[in-house]
Amino acid sequence: MTQDCNGSMTRRDALIAGTSLLGAALASNTSFAQAGAGTVKLRILETTDIHVHVHSYDYYRDQPDDTVGLARIATLIEKARGEAKNTLLFENGDFLQGNPLGDLVAFERGFKEGDRHPLIRAMNSLKIDAGTLGNHEFNYGLAFLEKSLAGAEYPLVLANVAKGKLAANARADQTLLKPYVILEREVVDEAGGKHRIKIGVIGFTPPQIMQWDQTHLKGNVETRDIVASAAAFVPEMKERGADLVVALAHTGIATGNPQGMDENAAFYLAGVKGIDVILTGHSHLVFPGPNYKDRPGVDIEKGTLNGIPAVMAGFWGSHLGQIDLTLQKDGGTYRVVEHKSGAIPIFKRESGKIVPLAAPNASMLVSIEADHNATLEYVRRPVGKTAKAMDTYFALVSDNAALQVISDAQIWAVKQLLAGTPHASLPLLSAVAPFKAGGRGGADFYTQVPEGQVALKNVADLYIYPNTLRAVKVNGRQLKDWLERSAGIFNQIKPGDAEQALLNPSFPAFNFDMIDGVTYEIDLAQPSRYDGDGKLIAPDANRIVNLAYQGKPVTADQQFVVCTNNYRASGGGNFPGNDGTTIVVEAPDATRDVIIKYFQQTGTLNPKADGNWRFKAVPGASNVVFESNPKGRDLAGTVKGVSYLGEGQNGFARFRLDVGA
Ligand code: MN
Ligand code: MG
Repeated sequence: MTQDCNGSMTRRDALIAGTSLLGAALASNTSFAQAGAGTVKLRILETTDIHVHVHSYDYYRDQPDDTVGLARIATLIEKARGEAKNTLLFENGDFLQGNPLGDLVAFERGFKEGDRHPLIRAMNSLKIDAGTLGNHEFNYGLAFLEKSLAGAEYPLVLANVAKGKLAANARADQTLLKPYVILEREVVDEAGGKHRIKIGVIGFTPPQIMQWDQTHLKGNVETRDIVASAAAFVPEMKERGADLVVALAHTGIATGNPQGMDENAAFYLAGVKGIDVILTGHSHLVFPGPNYKDRPGVDIEKGTLNGIPAVMAGFWGSHLGQIDLTLQKDGGTYRVVEHKSGAIPIFKRESGKIVPLAAPNASMLVSIEADHNATLEYVRRPVGKTAKAMDTYFALVSDNAALQVISDAQIWAVKQLLAGTPHASLPLLSAVAPFKAGGRGGADFYTQVPEGQVALKNVADLYIYPNTLRAVKVNGRQLKDWLERSAGIFNQIKPGDAEQALLNPSFPAFNFDMIDGVTYEIDLAQPSRYDGDGKLIAPDANRIVNLAYQGKPVTADQQFVVCTNNYRASGGGNFPGNDGTTIVVEAPDATRDVIIKYFQQTGTLNPKADGNWRFKAVPGASNVVFESNPKGRDLAGTVKGVSYLGEGQNGFARFRLDVGA
């Protein structure tokens, strides 16, 4: 690009323009130059799902994280611009929320006259051509959003969110933001000639914001189907002379048949006539990339959806999206004759280590250094209190207080989300697995929250994954099999004095879901019904016994709603009742944020496991052992059946579990 929005030349632009004029003059008599006339190479860059990550820092763990950060993307942008004659940079949404810096501004600092959101300031410095909104932009409400966007020095577009009620048709909607803009840019062709080109840019966000941010949005805005909005506005953009139409689609890539009001509509957008480029996001994945292989109509070699070039640039600043177009002047307009899509990472993994591939842009870091420091203070500040220390040293051998807190928080949140829906009357259960429970993570890989004040970073220690909250509807049979699948973490135990290891070391602890709200026993004398991949291997085995709800045996067709996370609910770990089809609550809230809010509203928590599950006795099995952190030694007496044996290997300690009686 050689000119900015209002047509004024910047110094850098003038330099480029000067160079190309000279080039054109020198080459004007050669046929070679004529060959390039009217052929325009245009590079389109995408940032998406930044979620307030500017520094390469994990505020939850309170340590550097070189896999994230817009400041590193800034360096990649500079490089990408340096390599190309003509570039455009688009921002694809989910920038205001997602880390404690965002929460700090939204919940604590707010806006004084003249304040700009630190993330907006960082984005302004990138000279973005246009942006759209993701679903998370609505998390803090419309007033906060408006104040944040007021500081943006680039146009923001969003076609499928209307103020008040939807009109009779999309074109008549009073949209919250401009549905689209048509950017006029001067580009340099391959022969050095200059041309004016009109780039239409239209934006979309998942219509599901109406559910996810119901409290903020109900009565204030309404949403339309992404494809329907595109079908209405794209022809209008073409009528107004758009040579090229770029869709800023904060939506993922689902294939199969559209259901209407689809959350992940990028693939369907590719079927709307007139759209030339699709920038996708929302799913926090990389396109083109292996996550999208073997899907009909999706080409991960060419980087196309239904033949249309597309890109999805990961999340938290992990990648810069880049689509290189070759345009050919064709009559009065331009046609895409060649394209290449790719997502450029800011890091690679080499033998387990993170190797940065781009240094952070120093001036961007300096510009938000004060905000970064304020955020560090914020995460180190308490969100609540706990009357007792919490740990997961024995979370694999008994019901556990730390996990009970997560479970209770999930129920607290899902209950509110279910209120007024047909599912509100069903029994509400909650599934939680110990994420930090030794194993391959090592002897220190346990949750350890000290008594007293709980800081944000302690909540992250309780819940290390950036999962989001889900609830699924399952029947009694699926519920029991869910627990059977979890119980595969245990080896089969036989009577006798010989030492037997309790835990199967190849079974990850994050797949050991405990389910609160029902009571049950685990019979270790039985073989596991499922193998480590979730395949049914022993259909006659039943480790889960005496499964009961409110004291009555659970029947096969009894209905339950179970709180869980996006990973499990969408099929992660291949658990019965969890294949993506049983989801009844799809909250955009990070489970971690739910726990934080739960702490905040509770004041001082008194964590205590409710003891809803236990092992069934295996008579005569007197020497069942397992490993844990050595600090468990002092706590062994507080957990039924556990005694300390001595030092183990690699920093672990050895314990015995008495299941014999
Ligand atoms: Mn996102
Ligand atoms: Mg419990």
